[in-house]
Amino acid sequence: KPVIEFDHVSKIYSNGVVGLKDINLAIQPGEFVVVVGLSGAGKSTLMRAINRLHDVTEGDVRINGTSITKAKGKQLLHIRRQIGMIFQNFNLVNRATVLKNVLTGRVGYYPTWKMIFGLFSAEDKQRAYDALGTVELQDKVYTRADQLSGGQQQRVSIARALTQEPQIILADEPIASLDPQTTKRVMDDLQRINREMGITVVANLHSVELAQAYATRIIGIRAGEKVFDGPVAEATDEA
Ligand code: ADP
Ligand code: ADP
Repeated sequence: KPVIEFDHVSKIYSNGVVGLKDINLAIQPGEFVVVVGLSGAGKSTLMRAINRLHDVTEGDVRINGTSITKAKGKQLLHIRRQIGMIFQNFNLVNRATVLKNVLTGRVGYYPTWKMIFGLFSAEDKQRAYDALGTVELQDKVYTRADQLSGGQQQRVSIARALTQEPQIILADEPIASLDPQTTKRVMDDLQRINREMGITVVANLHSVELAQAYATRIIGIRAGEKVFDGPVAEATDEA
């Protein structure tokens, strides 16, 4: 059963720009999907449609068979909890410790006031340590986020996503602001959680070479349309 499905999805922005045009997709659990395309092709528009960071204009997006397009209130929160997010600019709280940042992945499992005062259960702290272990940053638990390098910050954001215990990780340009060495580290971490934890990864990248190195499936987007969808070996720069 697909973990993510797009059923004739189109997105037209209020200024008339076509972001996505009649996209059909079925992503199976455990896939590592990389979305490629030129700048402005619609990659982010597609990513943002998966967890409904924005509404689509037509069609339906389903997560584990449930429409996120139509979901409301608690049901929407419940679906979103299954989807961990990683952003280009990390979205960490700079002055907070790595531990606090990682535990924000537990938002929704916790009353907000407990979050503010840092009153986390021993169980959740253990979750955070485990997640930091996965990205090999356990020695940075009490370091302030803004004391870390960019690559380390991105790995903290991976750990934050992991504490959500997600089924899917969406990584929107996860390496766009990183250097080549750090890039490899971050991509390796994403690959590890995909292979070892079975988490479905959907990432968008500019580089087809990088996509070929990590993806099990590549989706090519051009002007909002899907122009390629297949196994890595068949993807070329055309997509
Ligand atoms: P990519 O991620 O591939 O660079 P985007 O999904 O960001 O592409 O953008 C696809 C198209 O939609 C582009 O033409 C872009 O200018 C346009 N677009 C993106 N966001 C908005 C928005 N909020 N309002 C209007 N147009 C937008
Ligand atoms: P990684 O590849 O793990 O992200 P780097 O090789 O970029 O690590 O950084 C090595 C060390 O230098 C790290 O321990 C990090 O704390 C420190 N460092 C790198 N860049 C910065 C930065 N911009 N601010 C503070 N510390 C940094």
